[in-house]
Amino acid sequence: MSGLLPALISLVLSAPPAAPFDLPKLVDRGGATIQSQWEEVKELADDPTAQAVRLGELQLERARCTDALSVLDLLRAAPELPYAMRDTWRGRVVARPELLAVMALAGRLLSERAPGAVVTIGDIAQPGCGQIKFGTTVTFVDGEDKKALLARARWVGGAATTFDPEPPELFVDEWPRFADDLGPVWVEHRLTGLTVEGAVRVEIRRFDEGHRLGQGSIERLMDRTRKRLADRRAIVLRDVVKHTLDDGRVVKVRRGRWRDKVGKRFVEVIFRDGVRTDTLSAQTLLLVREARIDPKKPTSLIDEERYVFSDDGEAGVRVDRHVGHYEAHHVSHLAGFDADLSYITVDNAHPFEGGGWHLNPKQSFTWLSALDEAARRLAIPMKALFVDRRIVRAMKAAHVAPPSHPAWRAIHLAPGHDSHVHVRVGSAARFAVKSAAEVLELVGGVKGSLKK
Ligand SMILES: [Zn+2]
Repeated sequence: MSGLLPALISLVLSAPPAAPFDLPKLVDRGGATIQSQWEEVKELADDPTAQAVRLGELQLERARCTDALSVLDLLRAAPELPYAMRDTWRGRVVARPELLAVMALAGRLLSERAPGAVVTIGDIAQPGCGQIKFGTTVTFVDGEDKKALLARARWVGGAATTFDPEPPELFVDEWPRFADDLGPVWVEHRLTGLTVEGAVRVEIRRFDEGHRLGQGSIERLMDRTRKRLADRRAIVLRDVVKHTLDDGRVVKVRRGRWRDKVGKRFVEVIFRDGVRTDTLSAQTLLLVREARIDPKKPTSLIDEERYVFSDDGEAGVRVDRHVGHYEAHHVSHLAGFDADLSYITVDNAHPFEGGGWHLNPKQSFTWLSALDEAARRLAIPMKALFVDRRIVRAMKAAHVAPPSHPAWRAIHLAPGHDSHVHVRVGSAARFAVKSAAEVLELVGGVKGSLKK
């Protein structure tokens, strides 16, 4: 006993302080509501100030849907469906039950009419619904993973964050992405909220291995940042936020956000604690983030670059520049009514490759008409199949179907959709179900044989 007590005390003293992250509570809301609210905010693009106010009023960045399902659950319940995943890491695979139902029935029709044809699933919606940001994927973390994440996280300029190097092999799933990367992929986890069940919402961004800036580059970075901050009317936010020092102490640091007049560029600057903010230099900074922005896509940073400042002993301050890896932003895909799905390619090779060079036009039309027919049979509105003109031309040239075929009416010409069809369905009250199994039950009950 006498030996155990001091050991216990020293254990308590050496344990890292419990992570004091006061994460915002997430607000549960129907996916369709979240979608229409983001659309409303997008409409305010001409007035960024009003837009920011409305974003806050609606608490949109804290909204979470619970009425969407994972397409992975559908494929586990019905592994015979002719679908492959584009990757299993990015997690943009959340869909409305209506969309899962259409995919289930269309998959069966495709397997009957074009045996062996495989469709690759791209982006649908992200867990919890909401805006799919540039460079960002979203996940919810609970249990042991949550504990580990909280233990590693620290405040970085007001955001509970981890920023760690990971081997590119971790993302081998996304080949050929990162294939040429020798150095690490830097992964940021940003803890953005807490669900009522206690899970943490995490935004993940990936950056390149990073490059140390030379003296000239540091001076240019300082010059342009100084000029920007001097333009006071363009500063959209100045506040004081939490930051964890290397020794674990949490201090308050100053943060400034700047946006240029036309709203196309964004800069965030985080100062060290206890420095004067009117004399900007490498010695007074912790972090600079630069990005482009699009007023129609508020809060979404395009091609983010970040400059991380650290002490480097005698050499002074070291600055490392990390460039964000691309991840598509989607204006739609907010609630799981929308999905990007591949066409059918020759030998199922090169799905999602642009240009349509590998297209199998006959089977692709079979696939598109299966989607349209499945929606009709299930009484789910098929809002549109967005297809590039190039693909429509290739299908017509191959005489895939007479002009009277009803699937042509569902096909809407949309530039940029030569690598995938963007499917959009509407809602149907009887599909308000809670699991992929229930979806399959409803689909299985559809009248009439699949064979025609
Ligand atoms: Zn899309």
